[in-house]
Amino acid sequence: MPDYSADFNGSTVVVTGATSGIGREIALRFADAGATVLNADIDAQPKDAETPTHELIRERGGTAEYVQTDVSNAAEIREAVDRAREYGGVDVMVNNAGLFIGGGLLEVSEDEFEKIHDVNAKGVFFGCQAAAQDMIDRGVEGAIINTASISSFVAQREQIQYDSTKAAVKMITRGAALELAEHDIRVNAVGPGQIATEFIDGWSEEAPAAAESDELIKPVPLGRAGTPDDIAGAVLYLASDDAAYVTGEVLMVDGGWRTI
Ligand code: NAD
Repeated sequence: MPDYSADFNGSTVVVTGATSGIGREIALRFADAGATVLNADIDAQPKDAETPTHELIRERGGTAEYVQTDVSNAAEIREAVDRAREYGGVDVMVNNAGLFIGGGLLEVSEDEFEKIHDVNAKGVFFGCQAAAQDMIDRGVEGAIINTASISSFVAQREQIQYDSTKAAVKMITRGAALELAEHDIRVNAVGPGQIATEFIDGWSEEAPAAAESDELIKPVPLGRAGTPDDIAGAVLYLASDDAAYVTGEVLMVDGGWRTI
């Protein structure tokens, strides 16, 4: 089947967490579709590649910048969105940065709980706020896409705090969609299932292979782990005019996992 690809020429896209994994692929796909891309990540050096995302985009002839950003700090997210003004202002905001800390209810510490909620939930909330304020101030339509998860819907053992952050992302998405519709700003989320990245803390260089292990893909009807590209395609669709009547939605990209 041919690839779906939208045209984002003239658009400026801020992607949080675009240094590695899913965010990096989202950034590359937007750049290939003609967008200017700002990578707002706490680190510039990818875990899973040699060349930083913004440098790779420039090597391919695109326009990109790295803006060092800790998404758990609302002021730093606002600064990243402000930087987009140098390129005409943010048209698409992708709140993708996230981390995983495992542990059961009786084990999780207060510090761990605060850390994961600060990045995964607070970071998405203030990413939505910063982008929406900028779009409203400039009087432009826009799209915001948040990275939710299968964990927004399905509880798994030893994941209680992560799951609660991703449930928050789902409701931030719906609440923001409700409030921003009158400004022609659509807010959606993508819901990855088991994706082959080095996401899980402590996973080694073999992490993508581990994500494809029989045990982890057993519950996936399509019978394989997803790839960052699977998620990026869905994000580009949600950002595009083809999704003009879609808002408040969590588009699951999980090989059918949630259906079982
Ligand atoms: P990854 O670890 O490869 O990439 C995460 C990126 O976020 C990294 O570049 C990291 O530097 C950045 N980041 C972490 N903390 C940050 C902070 N405080 N400020 C700014 N940037 C920060 O992981 P990934 O698999 O690409 O995950 C991306 C998103 O997808 C996350 O929100 C994750 O929860 C979600 N997700 C992943 C999977 C999966 O199986 N990989 C499944 C469901 C959801």
